[in-house]
Amino acid sequence: MNLNYLLESVKKYNNNEKDIKFISNAYHYAEKLHKNQKRQSGEPYIIHPLSVAIILSEIEADTNTIVAGLLHDTLEDTDIKKNDIACEFNPYVAMLVDGVTKIGKISFSSREEEIAGNARKLLSGIAEDVRIVLIKLADRLHNMRTLEFKKLDRQKEIALETMEIFIPLAYYLGCYRIKSELEDLSFKYINPEMYFELSKKVKKIEKDTYNDLYLMLSEINSLLIDNNIPNEIKARTKNIYGIYKRIEQGTKLNEIHDLLALKIMVEDVKKCYLTLGQVHSLYPPVNGRIKDYIAKPKTNMYQSLHTTVFGKGENLVQIQIRTFEMDKIASLGLTAYWQDPKVVMNDELKTRFQFFKSLLEINSSTSDNKSFFEEIKQEVLGAKIYVYTPKGDIIELPVGSTAIDLAYKIHTDMGNSMVAAIINGNYSLPESKLQNKDIVKIITNDMTFGPNKEWVDQCQTVLAKRMIRRFYDRVKL
Ligand code: MN
Repeated sequence: MNLNYLLESVKKYNNNEKDIKFISNAYHYAEKLHKNQKRQSGEPYIIHPLSVAIILSEIEADTNTIVAGLLHDTLEDTDIKKNDIACEFNPYVAMLVDGVTKIGKISFSSREEEIAGNARKLLSGIAEDVRIVLIKLADRLHNMRTLEFKKLDRQKEIALETMEIFIPLAYYLGCYRIKSELEDLSFKYINPEMYFELSKKVKKIEKDTYNDLYLMLSEINSLLIDNNIPNEIKARTKNIYGIYKRIEQGTKLNEIHDLLALKIMVEDVKKCYLTLGQVHSLYPPVNGRIKDYIAKPKTNMYQSLHTTVFGKGENLVQIQIRTFEMDKIASLGLTAYWQDPKVVMNDELKTRFQFFKSLLEINSSTSDNKSFFEEIKQEVLGAKIYVYTPKGDIIELPVGSTAIDLAYKIHTDMGNSMVAAIINGNYSLPESKLQNKDIVKIITNDMTFGPNKEWVDQCQTVLAKRMIRRFYDRVKL
C-alpha cells in the first residue's frame, strides 16, 4: 500500500495529469499532518486515509472525493481548519471533508440513542452530498478490514453496527462490492465459528466445480460469438454471509440456486434477451427462477436478467445477463452516474432512487433520533433485531420474533424442550416478544412433552414454525 498503488488505481479510469498531481499533493499534505500518529495496529496513521482513498478509487470516485478521502481525518485529528483545506485544495474538497467530520467518528458506543443519532447524521449526509456517505462507507470498510486490532468486546459491537447501518446503506447506494465485503467481515466477528465452517465448505465446492463452470463459460461464449453477440463472462461464488442467510432459511448448501453464478455482459438490451434464449438452448432452466430486473429494476436501480439452469456436472448455476453499462452501475453504485466531477445529486437522480424518497419523507416527519432510527429500520433498512445470549453471542432475528424463535434458532432440541425464558433478568413466557438488544436465556426442561401446538402462530421465523410442525408430524407416527 503506497501512493503509487493509489495513483495506478486512479489511472485505470482517469489519466488526467492535473488530477494525478492533485491527488499526490493531497497525499503528501495528509502524510505531513498525521506524521506522528499511529494506528492501533502500530502502522503509521497515513495508511488509513490512503486505504480509504484506494477503496474510493476502486468504485471510480471522482478526484475531489479521492482527495477528500485522503484528508478525511485531518479536521478531527490535526490542527487545520476547513478554510485551510479550501485554500490549499478547493471548496468542494473542504465541504466533503467537513461533511465527513460532521457525521462524526462513530463512537462505537452500544448506547442505542447514540447509534440512532449516528444513523440519522449518516443518512442525512446523503441528502447533502452522497459522496460524503461514500467516504464514510470506505472509512468503515477499512476499519472493518483492520478490526482484529481492536479490543475483543469492541469488535462485536462495531461489527453489529456495520450490519445495522452501513450494509443497508451500501445496498441502497448500489455498492454491491462494498456491501458483500462488509457483510462477510461483520459476519466473521459476529459468528466466527459458522463463518469459518462455511468458508471451508465453499472453498471445497469452488474447487470441485471449477472445471464444470469454466466449461460452461466457454460453451456459452462460443455459442454467443457464433450468433454475433460479443460478450464477456465472469464466474463468481455467493458471499459467505449470503450463503449463511439461505441456510438459515432451511436451504441446503447444494440447493442454493445462486451459490455459483456466471455473469454475462453484452452490448445492449436486445442482446440480453437474445442471450437468455441462447443459454436456455444449452442448459434447461429451473422452473420459476427467471427474473427480469431489466424491465423491472430493483429500487436501487439494479438491472439484470437472472435465470438458474441445470448446468454441467449437475450443478445449479445462476446466469446473470446484463449490458456492460448495467454492470458498471451494479458494481460501482451511484458513482457510475457521475459524469461531471462537480456534480451533486440532482433532484431527478434523487427521485430515481426510491430510497431517497422514503428517507427524505421520514426525515421531515420525525423529530427525535430514536424514532427516526426505528422508522428507517422498519421502512428501508429491513426489519431486524439483535439479541444477546447470556454468553454474549449476538443473534439476529426478524422484528416481531419471540423467545420461541430464538430457542429454535440456537438449536432444535432447545426449542423442543423450552419451557420459559429469562429476558433481561425477568422470568417470561416463551411467546414473549423480543426487543432489540434484549439479553435472553432460554429455560429448558428435558421432561417436557415438547413444543406447545399454539407456538406455531406465536413465532415469527419459518425455521421455528417448521421445526414445531415437524415435531408433531413425528409424534403422529
Ligand atoms: Mn477514518
